[in-house]
Amino acid sequence: MLVVPPDMAISESRLAYAQTVREMTLAGDLLHDPVLAERVGAITGRLVGAAVRRWPHTSGWEWSVALIDAPDTVNAWCMAGGRMAVYSGLVSRLDLSDDELANVMGHEIAHAIANHSAEQMSIALLRGLAVLAVAVETGDRSSARSADMLASIALSLPNSRTAEYEADQLGMELAAAAGYSPRAAVSLWEKMGAMRGSPGILEFLSTHPNPDNRSIRLATLANQLQTRPQSTPPTPHPVRMYP
Ligand SMILES: [Zn+2]
Repeated sequence: MLVVPPDMAISESRLAYAQTVREMTLAGDLLHDPVLAERVGAITGRLVGAAVRRWPHTSGWEWSVALIDAPDTVNAWCMAGGRMAVYSGLVSRLDLSDDELANVMGHEIAHAIANHSAEQMSIALLRGLAVLAVAVETGDRSSARSADMLASIALSLPNSRTAEYEADQLGMELAAAAGYSPRAAVSLWEKMGAMRGSPGILEFLSTHPNPDNRSIRLATLANQLQTRPQSTPPTPHPVRMYP
């Protein structure tokens, strides 16, 4: 049961994202790297194009990516409503190919589309980690602050293994629909696994627990997707990049 309905998760994530981007801008934590920004923007634009074609209700989402200057950190996330972040260490430390990057972004986008963010916010709320987000409707400023905190707390909670299965599958389907190899999900998660124990990847691996038989399932899914007839590549969808 979603205590925090998807539309509320989106509006609260909007506040949390704006706050996060503002703080990172002030702290100088956003990465000014036109080459990487172009690459991440192009890959994400194709994935979002595929997502919007399949789930037209997401065409009005404010699809965005904040590129974070964190060379040691392997992390990426997507809040409810399509607001994302990519940490520079994700690409550099794992030496990601475009296909692998498309699979990790597809996985994150899938969490948002499958309402996992709303589920996480519901869990955070039920655990009493924040005051009742419903109070935001009263217009009370302190409650509004708590509501956007809820969106940030939700990002730090581990997804269920069921949610991981779902995001793996949907993410690979999105990558394939956007013209990337779903097989790259296998090498992507192998690279993640090889870094287990490194401090820079702890947060990502704790929020994305390893479901049983992940590599076998990924390889099976990749085979199924690669034998399907290819659809025409989607028109890339505009994605706002920060900075
Ligand atoms: Zn995940």
